[in-house]
Amino acid sequence: MSMNLCDIKTVRQLMASFHLSFRKEFGQNFLTDHSVVEGIADECCSGQDNTILEIGPGMGTLTVELAQRYRNVVALEIDKGLIPLLSFTLGEFRNVKVINEDVMQADLDAILAPYLESGPVSVCANLPYYITTPILMKLLESGIPFEHITVMIQAEVADRLCAKAGSKEYGAITAVLAYYGVAEPLFRVSADRFVPAPKVDSAVVRIRLHTEKPYRPMSEELLFRTIKAAFGQRRKTLLNALSAGFPALSKEALADAITSCGHDLNVRGERLDIAQFVALSDRILDLLEATP
Ligand code: SAM
Repeated sequence: MSMNLCDIKTVRQLMASFHLSFRKEFGQNFLTDHSVVEGIADECCSGQDNTILEIGPGMGTLTVELAQRYRNVVALEIDKGLIPLLSFTLGEFRNVKVINEDVMQADLDAILAPYLESGPVSVCANLPYYITTPILMKLLESGIPFEHITVMIQAEVADRLCAKAGSKEYGAITAVLAYYGVAEPLFRVSADRFVPAPKVDSAVVRIRLHTEKPYRPMSEELLFRTIKAAFGQRRKTLLNALSAGFPALSKEALADAITSCGHDLNVRGERLDIAQFVALSDRILDLLEATP
């Protein structure tokens, strides 16, 4: 079947013949640059024995490239209307399974279990922008041993994911992500490479998950609570932010915790990298446990 899914005329014709329109509420911005699609598919994981979980296959543009390169592709698409179109565009591929489900509701463990037995599983997706962070958090928190997670997201969010501690893009999501893996920017994609064109440019980020986590906080939950508190009050010092986030602890005790971790009392939360957050949250746990 020779069908160019990156050709805007073909895209519009296919949509029309399946009586579909682009659904904004599902973040439908379809890629129309073949070299970008190939680039993402080429670089999303370490080798052809991977199974790829794709979120939001749309018309199957990226799915085709993934199917040609990797062992299996499992694609979750929320829009029921696209399913017949996907059967048409992906019909020739025996190694693709399309599931009509919302990724946020899907039981990823159950869906991926059979594939995890036979090799690595990675994620590759041009994500719907309205829900980028919740999807990433679901993937990271799932505990599923993904090898890589490669996503196309808004350029601004990509900058945040890959930021260094202390930079203005560094935020809670950067620190949390660093707990799970290492994020690396791959390339930028301008808005005019999509139909319909989104308002902002995009970028592709590849996250390599730690096979063994290098950080071992005494409480993961408290680590995330500490990070959230530290960034909750952005222009405040870490001390003031933590004291707002942990009202049960005295300011003096929190000040001690901060200085005993080797920080200046005026330090701001955005200066701390993940290792430093882990050390700090362990101190806070001691304080909480000592508080009646
Ligand atoms: N992969 C296609 C491409 O690159 O051209 C489409 C990408 S488009 C940015 C996002 C896709 O995700 C759409 O097909 C949309 O219907 C789908 N989607 C949106 N929300 C979803 C969800 N919660 N679960 C699964 N798919 C979703």
